[in-house]
Amino acid sequence: MPEEKIDFKKARMKAGIEIHQQLDSKQKLFCGCSTAMQEKEPVAVVVRKQHPVASELGAIDAAAQYEYLRGRSFHYHVFRDETCLVDTDEEPPHALNREALQIALEIAMLLNCEIPAEINVMRKTITDGSNTGAFQRTMIIGTGGWMKFGGKKVPITQVALEEDSAAIVREGENGNGGKDPAEENGKATYRLNRLGVPLVEITTGTLEDFSPGQLQEIAFMIGITCRSTEKVKHGIGTIRQDLNVSVRGGERVEVKGVQELGMLAKVIEKEAARQLELLKTGKKVEKETRATLLDGSTRFMRPMPGAARMYPETDVPPVALDDVWLKQLREKLPEPWTDKLERFKTKLELPADLAVQVVGSDYLDIFENIMKKHPKVNAVVVANVFTSTLKDIGRRKLDVKRLEDRHFFAIFSELEKKRIVKEAIPDLLVNFVNAPDEAMGDALRKLNLTMLKPDELKEIVAQLAKDSPGMAKERLYGIAMGRVRGRADPQDVLKAVERAAKK
Ligand SMILES: [Zn+2]
Repeated sequence: MPEEKIDFKKARMKAGIEIHQQLDSKQKLFCGCSTAMQEKEPVAVVVRKQHPVASELGAIDAAAQYEYLRGRSFHYHVFRDETCLVDTDEEPPHALNREALQIALEIAMLLNCEIPAEINVMRKTITDGSNTGAFQRTMIIGTGGWMKFGGKKVPITQVALEEDSAAIVREGENGNGGKDPAEENGKATYRLNRLGVPLVEITTGTLEDFSPGQLQEIAFMIGITCRSTEKVKHGIGTIRQDLNVSVRGGERVEVKGVQELGMLAKVIEKEAARQLELLKTGKKVEKETRATLLDGSTRFMRPMPGAARMYPETDVPPVALDDVWLKQLREKLPEPWTDKLERFKTKLELPADLAVQVVGSDYLDIFENIMKKHPKVNAVVVANVFTSTLKDIGRRKLDVKRLEDRHFFAIFSELEKKRIVKEAIPDLLVNFVNAPDEAMGDALRKLNLTMLKPDELKEIVAQLAKDSPGMAKERLYGIAMGRVRGRADPQDVLKAVERAAKK
C-alpha cells in the first residue's frame, strides 16, 4: 500500500520528546559499582516475582497492575564488579553520586534550566521487572529550560537524574533458539550491570508546528548538548528516546524505546498515520504506551502509567545544592556543541548536513585540532575525510583504528603546504593503516603521489596532445587525469589542457 503524504500541520500533530542519556561517571548513582557494562559472564542468577501495591493515596497504578497480571518471574544476571546488594535491592542505597550529579547539572544548565535549591529523590513504580525493587529512583534537577532551534525556543520542561533500568536479555542471546525470552514460560531475564547507571532524562514541552524531520533534529541537538560535557557514554543503547504523539481528535500516545536517532522522524510519521487511520475509520485512539518495532511502527505495550506511580524515596535524604558550587559550575560550563555546530556552518563554511555529521562523529576533537593547527586547509575536505573517506576505507576491511592523530596532522600539513592534492589522501591513509611508521616522504615516493611541478605537468599534457593531434579537449583531460591523478590539482590539469589545445 503506498503511503499517503500526511499534512502534519492540518492534522494538528503534537509531539513531546524524552531523551535518556547515560552519564559516564565512574560509579553507579547509588552504589560503588562500575558503570563500564563490560562483563559478559554472570557470576550468579537471582530469581524474583513482583506484586503491585497501592500508593499512599490508595490507587494501584494501571501499568503496574497490567505487568503483574502477566504473571512473570524475573531472572537477574549478577556481575562481579558491576552488581552489588544495592542493585539486587537487598541493601539501602548509598549516598547520591556527586560526579553524576555534577554532569547532570551541567546538562541542565546548558539547557538553560532553573536549578532547584534542594534535590528530592523519588521512586517511580516500574513493574516490568527491569528494576529489582519495582521502582526507579529519579530526581528533578532542572525545570523551565529552553534550547534555540531555527529561530524558535524549544521548551525543556524538565531534566531529571535517574537510575538506568536493567537490560532485558534479548531474543536468541540465551540460546533458546530465537524465542522471545520474555514470553518463555512467563520468564524474563535481565542483566543487572546496567541497573543503577546514572542517566539524565530530558523532557521537552509539547511541540507544535514542527515536522517529524525537525523533531528528529531537535532530539539530535539535545543529544549533542549532553555530549558537550564530554562526560556522557557513547555508542548503541547509551542514548534512547521516548515520544508522545497525538493528532487532533485523538489521545496522547506514549512511544517507548526509539534506539536510533535516525528512526525518530519515521516513528513519529508512522504513529501519527496510525492514529489518523483509526480516527478516519471512526475508531478511538487509546491513551496507551506503545513499543517501537524495527521498521519504525509501534505495538501495544501497556496502559499509560498514571500519577500514582511516584512516591518519595525515604532511604536517601534530600540533597541541598550549594550556591557557591553551582556558581562555579556555571562559570566553567563548556561551549555547547549546538554553538559549535553554528560555528562550523558560519566560520568554517561547512554545509549543514556535513557540520551535523562532524559534530556527531567520534572524530570531532581531531577535526577541531586540525582546523586550529592548519587553518588554511579547506574544512570541507577535512570533514569529508572523517565522515566518509574513513568509512570507505573501513568497508574495505582495513582497520582505520590503526591511524593515529599524527598521521592526520602529517597529511593535512602536506595539503596545507600544497605538497599533495586532496585526491592523494585516501591512498595515503590506506598506506598508513598498513605501514603506520613509514615516513611521509617515503610514502609519497612509493605511491607516486609527489606533486608534479607546474612545468612537469605542462610537459606531460603537451606530450599527450602531441601524440594524438586533434583530440577533443574533454578526452584529453580524461587521459591526462588518468596519468597524473593524485599528483596534480584537477583545476591545474584543466588549465594545462586548455593551453595545449590552443596550440
Ligand atoms: Zn551496585
